Amino acid sequence: MSTDTVELLQQLIRNGCVNDGTQESGQEVRNADLLQNFLEGTGLDFQRFEALPNRPSLVARVEGSDPNAPSLLLMGHTDVVPVNPEGWIRDPFGGELVNDEVWGRGAVDMLNLTSSMAVAVRNVMRSGFKPKGTLIYFAVPDEEAAGTYGAKYMCEEETDAIRSDYVVTEMGGFRFGGGDLPQRVVTIGEKGTYWCRITVHGTPGHGSMPARTDNALVKAAEVVRRLAAYKPPTTMHEVWKSFVDNMEFPAGLSEHLLDPEKVDALVEETDDIGLARMIPACTHTTFAPTVLNAGVKANVIPDHAELQVDIRTLPGQTGPDIDAMLQEALGDMYSGVEIDPMSAMPASFSTPDTPLYALMSKLTERLSPGSKTVPFMITGATDARFFRKIGAVSYGYGLFSDRIPFTEFASMFHGDNEHVDTESLRLSTELWEAVIREFLG
Ligand SMILES: [Zn+2]
Repeated sequence: MSTDTVELLQQLIRNGCVNDGTQESGQEVRNADLLQNFLEGTGLDFQRFEALPNRPSLVARVEGSDPNAPSLLLMGHTDVVPVNPEGWIRDPFGGELVNDEVWGRGAVDMLNLTSSMAVAVRNVMRSGFKPKGTLIYFAVPDEEAAGTYGAKYMCEEETDAIRSDYVVTEMGGFRFGGGDLPQRVVTIGEKGTYWCRITVHGTPGHGSMPARTDNALVKAAEVVRRLAAYKPPTTMHEVWKSFVDNMEFPAGLSEHLLDPEKVDALVEETDDIGLARMIPACTHTTFAPTVLNAGVKANVIPDHAELQVDIRTLPGQTGPDIDAMLQEALGDMYSGVEIDPMSAMPASFSTPDTPLYALMSKLTERLSPGSKTVPFMITGATDARFFRKIGAVSYGYGLFSDRIPFTEFASMFHGDNEHVDTESLRLSTELWEAVIREFLG
């Protein structure tokens, strides 16, 4: 039964803990209170930590009986990203249950898992289960704004409270393609982030006489054009190679996906826009100009422009590698601009060669007959990266039914009309319950 998971998810959605990136947004205390209430009286110990007022990290723990047994932390974030209600056909914070689907912001990112993890923890605790290894349920705020006041703060400042051998959080468990492939991806790693600010200088002048002026905005536009046109080298790293091998794609496709010469042509020609975006991101460093600010008034030639670029790095790349690429991309403009890194975090990985991965694979086959797991590297970032940095083996997983096709599912992340079916909630709840019992028992 997934009634508890459905109801808890509805309430988490209705609390509307919207994180718009400002420190006063989120107000995740409402979801932390809800979850603590839900879990209270089952033998768990609770701790709260606040990097900012009303934005608590909630840690619920039961100590294992065997100090040598591996510990497990299940982590769900309690915040969601903002919505544009005009794009929604239902109330984004209504948490409505319609045709066996729960609708609302957070239904797949990731209140579905925050909810199913809490229900599984409560179920096992109520049954009198005594784990050998320590079990921690961690409801974390601020994931949607880079984790600064949630997972990052906890891993750096309150490490003892959340230290665990293994961590599971979002995202994974869906099938690629039209749902006819048996493979379900488990996130074992993610690309690194290297966000930077590029400042372009010019000389102010009158907008009525643009000829031969030194217009910072015009120069910034050329910087954007060069970044967009830049072709970084194709890199077939180990996780990508093993992903392609394990997916058992048709032979011709696999060959293209692993050949640096052929993969570019495949990206150009495929009709599948999802693949066309994913493949280059998985095999290249990517450069996305995302913000441009310039000018003060319509009749003034701007003397300075500021561009922000979202750069995602591959395993092993650091600042000097990226700087060399920027130099190549910008050519003769490189020396005339200022480049300042805003935030940088290297790519992170956990080995799939662990007892927890093996158990999740076994349970996947049991709960979703015909399925098999495949390790995957995601191109975005999750809170798992902070845990990998402090030595925890961290995966992104969950289980979904085949009711919602992958393309629709992918478009709901931060998109309109987010919803999840109750069968998916049941599968994830059963998965977490079995993971806790069999891994910690
Ligand atoms: Zn998320």
